[in-house]
Amino acid sequence: MNIAKKVIRGRIFDEFFKKGRPVNRIPVKKTASAIDFSSANRRDFIKTLLLMGSVPLLAKRGLWAAKGQAKFEYKFATMPVGHFPEIQEDIDKLRRENKLSRNATYLSYIDPKSRNFTVPGNFKNAKTLIVMAIAQPVLTVNFHHRGRVLPVIIPPGYYDDGNSRDDVMKTVREDIVRDPVARVEITGAPHMKLAAVRSGLGKYGRNNICFVDGMGSFLALYAFLTDHTFPEDHWSPLAMLPACKDCSICYSACPTGAITRENFVIDVGKCVTLYNEVAGEFPNFILPSMHNALMGCMKCQDKCPENEKYLSAKVKLEDVTEEETEKILKGTPDDALLKSMGRKLKGFGGSKESFPVFTRNLQPLLR
Ligand code: SF4
Ligand code: SF4
Repeated sequence: MNIAKKVIRGRIFDEFFKKGRPVNRIPVKKTASAIDFSSANRRDFIKTLLLMGSVPLLAKRGLWAAKGQAKFEYKFATMPVGHFPEIQEDIDKLRRENKLSRNATYLSYIDPKSRNFTVPGNFKNAKTLIVMAIAQPVLTVNFHHRGRVLPVIIPPGYYDDGNSRDDVMKTVREDIVRDPVARVEITGAPHMKLAAVRSGLGKYGRNNICFVDGMGSFLALYAFLTDHTFPEDHWSPLAMLPACKDCSICYSACPTGAITRENFVIDVGKCVTLYNEVAGEFPNFILPSMHNALMGCMKCQDKCPENEKYLSAKVKLEDVTEEETEKILKGTPDDALLKSMGRKLKGFGGSKESFPVFTRNLQPLLR
């Protein structure tokens, strides 16, 4: 799958805040199938910058649905669609107050025609929004280049984690909804981080990323509509992590000054992620030394105390050889290289269409 396209398509937003990652101790299933539906996390970082999150689930059933058949770690929260007007107002208020970046790419991610909290016309009987966080580890891969071995990071959200749409839908139907006659549809319309935070699944960090208890910020967010109703309602305020109160580590770590002390909403127009996920030249204010990941940016996450215990779960991929690295930097991939990269990097760099972004993003990391 074209990772660059997937990223653009998949963004769900939070403009205020950023992202998160999954929880239960269930091993992540590895398959060849690609996720072909929208998720919101690292790659949804910017989109999700608005207000999403994920929350806790319930009491009797077990907050985190750990006892089902899922082959991946997840947590979820449910939110009655009756809250949609209120959560939509969270975003509308930001628009009215001109607190959203005017960056064209960003605006395309949060186009209200496609990103909103409304019950769709083709599912008027929807009763509940289910917000789900699936844990995704940070990946590392060694690039061999001119006699050196250079480790490069692929953040969560930028690779195929092997969980197919069917895998996830099965878990939602059988372990969460548990109603054989209920209708369940995946939806990419909500601002994911905002949905996660308002539903009680997660909380925003100062860096606007969504954190979920038990996963830190290393997760992917998904949303589903169903006509099933749940007795629980964990509607929550737009709160920041308690740990952020006396912490400014991400503020100091951000290379571009996108995170400010004054505003909770970061300046998305300065965020590295906004530029390296799409084709084109980087703006002058993003210096080569500011790049730190094959796509996205980990600077405001990798020193966060809330992520400390999850960083050790980094997964090391197969090395990229000298010959492969040279071909990537030249930007002229042959079929063998595309196949090799798709396999080694879990889908990243596996298509001609996304290769120019791959080449451009790798260059400053090998400087
Ligand atoms: S680094 Fe500190 S301020 Fe930033 S999100 Fe983490 S806990 Fe909050
Ligand atoms: S550290 Fe990176 S991802 Fe975080 S706000 Fe700054 S530029 Fe954006």
